[in-house]
Order: sequence, then C-alpha cells, then structure tokens
Amino acid sequence: MRLDIVTIFPEYLEPLNVSLVGKARARGLLDVRVHDLRQWTHDRHNTVDDTPYGGGPGMVMKPEPWGEALDAIVASGGPGEGSDTEDGSRGGSEHGPVVVVPTPSGSPFTQTTAVELAAEPWLVFTPARYEGIDRRVIEEYGERLRVRELSIGDYVLAGGEAPVLVMVEAVARLLPGVLGNAESHRDDSFAPGAMADLLEGPVYTKPPVWRGRGIPEVLLSGHHGRIARWRRDQALHRTARYRPDLIERCDPAALDAQDRVL
Ligand code: SAM
Repeated sequence: MRLDIVTIFPEYLEPLNVSLVGKARARGLLDVRVHDLRQWTHDRHNTVDDTPYGGGPGMVMKPEPWGEALDAIVASGGPGEGSDTEDGSRGGSEHGPVVVVPTPSGSPFTQTTAVELAAEPWLVFTPARYEGIDRRVIEEYGERLRVRELSIGDYVLAGGEAPVLVMVEAVARLLPGVLGNAESHRDDSFAPGAMADLLEGPVYTKPPVWRGRGIPEVLLSGHHGRIARWRRDQALHRTARYRPDLIERCDPAALDAQDRVL
C-alpha cells in the first residue's frame, strides 16, 4: 500500500518510522511518502495561509499549494511507482488514490472505515492547520477522485497530523503480513463478525497470581466453548457499561439466545 501525506510539519510524522508502521515500511509492505506542503509555494515566505473571506478569527489554508501538491502526487503514478515497495500491486490505482481529509467536521473514522481504507492500494492524507483548507480544494478533487472527510472524534485538535497518525496505524495493522499473528485483530473491539459493535473484555497473562489477585478460573479450564462464552459475556457487560449506545444499535440477529438474557 502507498501512503502520501502532505503537511507543513513533516517532522510530526516521524513516529511512522517506529514500531508496527516502521517495521511494515522496512519490510516493504507500506510505502509512506511525507511531503512538505511549502515546496509547492512560490513566494519568499512560503505562505500557505490567508485571512478568511467573510471575516472572523483564524486563518485558512490557501488552495494553490494544495492544488499543486495533489496534482503532483496524483501525476507521480500509482502504488509501487518510483519506490522499492514489494507491494507492486496497481489494482484500483486506475481510479487514483483515495484522498483522506482529516477534519472534525467529517464523518466519524471507525473500525469499519479502517477496514475499507485497508482495502485500497493508495491513500493521500491532507492534514491541515489553522481553520482548515479552502473548501474549493475538497470540491475540486471530489469531482475527480474519491475524497473522504474523516473525523477521529468529537473534539478539535490544532492540526491534522495526529489524526493521520491515528488513521495510518489503524489501517496499517489490518494489512496482510503487518501483524505477526494474522488472527490478532479478529477479536478486537469493533472487529467485524463476532465483535461487531462490541468492546473487547478483559485480558490476562502470567503470573497466575499477582498481588493476591488471581485470574478467572474459566480461562484455565482449557474448555474452548466455555472460554468463548465467558469472553462474549464480558464483552457484552463492558459494552453495556461503557458504550450503551453500541448495545442499542446492535443487530438483534447478531445476538445469540444467551446474549438476550442480558
Ligand atoms: N475550524 C475547524 C472546525 O471547527 O471544524 C477546526 C480546524 S482545526 C483547528 C485544524 C485542523 O486540525 C483541521 O483542519 C483538521 O485537519 C485537524 N483536526 C482537528 N481536529 C480533528 C479531528 N477531531 N479529526 C480530524 N482532524 C482534526
């Protein structure tokens, strides 16, 4: 998968060199290209912002640098182009990349969104600063590419770089070969299938007793059916406690007979 990220703070994306994403890059599973938006400015001060039409506080990011940046990236070709990535797959790149615009005024970025984005060969992220990007940029590229305006939560950050780190990590861990154990995300909170709309319950490891606290006996039983039932009950209890909204929208068909007694 190829990821292009355009930002005025390239150094903010340095965490993409470490841990899971860093290893995926080193192994050629992810081709991440971070671009400094200011390289597409032409004045002495490398200006990327200006005052808002209609007045009001704050500044707005100018459309010209974003337009030049996106044109250059799209023209640079599809995934694998000009890189040594092992994932030379070009499937879907004839439609161009999906442009991901982080914004608090977008639709919520959820695990389902992460799964959808993980199926794409090429994503371009446009983390903004100030009051955001001139609307005409989103309109322009919305007519030629698939644009997704996504929010990572109901709060406002100073810039889109942290949301990009969040989204890239959520997507990258779903890519084949990135997690050591391909099954690892099967039981995660929100995972499609058995965990759809549920939070994961508690987890334990050795030692069997820590500071006088043991672990639930069922986990030592070796009885897979009972363990699965216990885990599901825990997930339901935890979801009811912390996210009753998720239980309410749970598809009744996805509940089994024992779930209904809750
Ligand atoms: N005036 C904007 C509003 O109220 O919708 C907020 C702009 S915010 C200060 C600057 C940038 O940070 C946004 O354009 C976006 O890129 C990013 N950002 C802030 N909060 C975000 C969130 N919850 N999800 C995604 N991106 C966010």
